[in-house]
Amino acid sequence: MNDYLVKAVAYQNQVRAYAVNSTTTVAEAQRRHAAWPTAADALGRSITAGVILGAMLKGDEKLSVKINGGGPLGTIIVDSNAKGEVRGYVSNPQTDFEMNEVGKAVGTNGLLTVSKDVGLMHPFVGQIPLISGEIGEDYTSYLSKSEQTASAVRVGVLVNSDYTVKAAGGFIIQLMPGADEDVMKIIEERVKVIAPLSSMIAKGTTPEQILEHILGSDHVTVLESMPVQFQCQCSMDRISNAIISLGSEEIQDMIQTDGHAEANCHFCNETYHFDTEHLEALKRAAL
Ligand code: ZN
Repeated sequence: MNDYLVKAVAYQNQVRAYAVNSTTTVAEAQRRHAAWPTAADALGRSITAGVILGAMLKGDEKLSVKINGGGPLGTIIVDSNAKGEVRGYVSNPQTDFEMNEVGKAVGTNGLLTVSKDVGLMHPFVGQIPLISGEIGEDYTSYLSKSEQTASAVRVGVLVNSDYTVKAAGGFIIQLMPGADEDVMKIIEERVKVIAPLSSMIAKGTTPEQILEHILGSDHVTVLESMPVQFQCQCSMDRISNAIISLGSEEIQDMIQTDGHAEANCHFCNETYHFDTEHLEALKRAAL
């Protein structure tokens, strides 16, 4: 089944809620980066929360999340937009801990940074110190401290014994300013006792049902449902243009030294090969 995200409101618009099944998206990230379980979990959680944050944007707006906790995973980067497209990578995908300790792998000695491109000259940048490196808690802290929105974030990934991804998903519930304290309490209690997201999704629970579990089916109004997918912006054309911009001398140097060139995209781990003939054409274009 294809991944999708739902946007909803509840309790007379006092609550805004998002839930996503990101299984296929996270599975593709794991496969592309050959990520080991703990790395796949950390990257998958980051991608899942990132795609929900992206869904809060409008039109051509986009955002980039950087998580760098000083742990063995290195840096996690996630790009997402308002169209449900997301891509991401982690510096050291071949990282695994027996007990799948995501917090330990990410580390807490660092920052979560969100950079939003909303079409202005400068991006809007929000940054918080990492709380636990467990990702969900860190995004919660970002939303409350940097965006002043009381939020509950849960993200989860279930990895199979062969390292493929069995299930991934998450939700973000936000209280609008002036929301009733009673509503706040009800949601806090429900979020506390909810089953792990990844096992709910593995059992076939839909994003709509996840929100109904937390908010109560009488209270939720689903506004929109949108597809979500791993989508990189790289292409042969883009990489070719990057090579052309190096200039004809540099390209001539590549031809003479190796006779070919390779370029790898960090985000999707796609490798682009350029043979001599292709490089000659790019050199002519650079003249
Ligand atoms: Zn790419």
